[in-house]
Amino acid sequence: MSAKDNLIALPNGRLRQKSRRLPVITPEALGVIKEMIEATVDWEESREHEVGVALAAIQIDKPYRIIIVRNDFENKADKSFSVFINPEIVKTEGELKEDYEGCLSVSDVYGKVPRYDKVRVRALDETGKLVRVKAEGFLARIFQHEVDHTNGIMFVDHLKNHKDAFYKLTDDGKLEPLAYEEVEKSGVFED
Ligand SMILES: [Zn+2]
Repeated sequence: MSAKDNLIALPNGRLRQKSRRLPVITPEALGVIKEMIEATVDWEESREHEVGVALAAIQIDKPYRIIIVRNDFENKADKSFSVFINPEIVKTEGELKEDYEGCLSVSDVYGKVPRYDKVRVRALDETGKLVRVKAEGFLARIFQHEVDHTNGIMFVDHLKNHKDAFYKLTDDGKLEPLAYEEVEKSGVFED
């Protein structure tokens, strides 16, 4: 058993449950965070063309409102992550912009998802300290994707009946269009 085997993927319906807030940071929660980082790093080591940029606890079947976000998206060698507990998007700004997203819990399906360009996030770090983040662009997108996970929402849910929104990764690491029928067949819209 390797750490990435803890990851769950659609059509597993547990991904669509709402995760619980943590009133205090328990040793168990710290253990979950460690498992989340291990699963993400192990997963990306098995994928040639992808980087694990973030994860929510529900993706390893732990229904807590915890997300981790990689500190340096550009550098696969830097395996450090920041931890956000009970994360909330307190403000969105700017326009909705479409860009590619993938998810460790949606195997081999990518989509162009509309997200706000700027968000403000409030959360606790792993020591229980309040943190506030102003995020833009790709980081803002990641926070929206991960906070969605804590609410049981998957990126594909934003793209239901969007016939031209889906892509797949080719063997040489490029994204090419994926037929909507194929996406339906993969079971990602089942609950
Ligand atoms: Zn995801």
